[in-house]
Amino acid sequence: MDEIHIKQLEVFAHHGVFPEENRLGQKFIVSADLRTDLRKAGLADDLQLSMDYGAVCGEIQEFLTRHTFQLLETAAEQLCTRLLQTLPLLRSIRLEIEKPWAPIGLPLKTASVSIERGWHTAYIALGSNMGDRKAYLDGAVEALRKDPSMRVEAVSDYLVTEPYGGVEQEDFLNAVLRVQTLLPPHELLDALHAIEQAANRERIIHWGPRTLDLDILFYDDLVYSDGVLNVPHPEIPKRTFVLQPMVQIAPFFVHPVYHRTMTELLEAIS
Ligand code: ATP
Ligand code: CA
Ligand code: CA
Repeated sequence: MDEIHIKQLEVFAHHGVFPEENRLGQKFIVSADLRTDLRKAGLADDLQLSMDYGAVCGEIQEFLTRHTFQLLETAAEQLCTRLLQTLPLLRSIRLEIEKPWAPIGLPLKTASVSIERGWHTAYIALGSNMGDRKAYLDGAVEALRKDPSMRVEAVSDYLVTEPYGGVEQEDFLNAVLRVQTLLPPHELLDALHAIEQAANRERIIHWGPRTLDLDILFYDDLVYSDGVLNVPHPEIPKRTFVLQPMVQIAPFFVHPVYHRTMTELLEAIS
């Protein structure tokens, strides 16, 4: 991906663990690699299609002087989040903050923290089969839209499906959506669990009735399993109620394990 580089921007600010640092302030040096697609800006010679590095430097300076953090880690984390949320074209960023005057009582050229953060594409399945099912799905979409670390890009139609797993219960209403998210996979799962809890979800019987169920289907092309999280969701190839809405919003998306598109996986079971 194309990059815009900001090298060694100097900012006088008050971050540090020691009270003197917070009181007196010191010099910080910020470097950033901003990743985006610069093709259109390059062809059209138009700043509107790129990121104004002058404005980005202004934003960095403003952010680091308005806040006082103990840790460079926190300053870097929050600054990355801020830039990713406010610059629509920014896909990912590598940010380094140096502290050349770090008060450690030893001669030191500089100490720094460097992190890399960005937007990720996730597909999420929604299901409900208790109470006002449509309201529960609408509520989940709304909660995701309100979260500044998510951008909801596409929502499928809601689909009525018969229950799965042999437990006697109401029909389900199912859907899938695509989000851009700043959250790593486990934090995304925690965020989805919080939305389920807010919808009075109780985990009583596995595959039993529930007000709201939110599953991570895919996270970029990640293939990952531990005791808590399996990505891609292992049941996808067997579930019409997931594949049908996936075909609606992402027919050509390729399953990173089976190397088949959503359309091909749906054809294979219908
Ligand atoms: P299924 O996962 O077969 O659709 P379910 O959604 O009814 O079943 P839950 O009781 O909602 O199952 O979830 C049980 C646990 O599954 C969750 O606490 C979570 O830790 C784990 N889990 C593993 N992978 C995922 C994933 N990709 N998305 C959501 N939860 C997952
Ligand atoms: Ca589920
Ligand atoms: Ca679930």
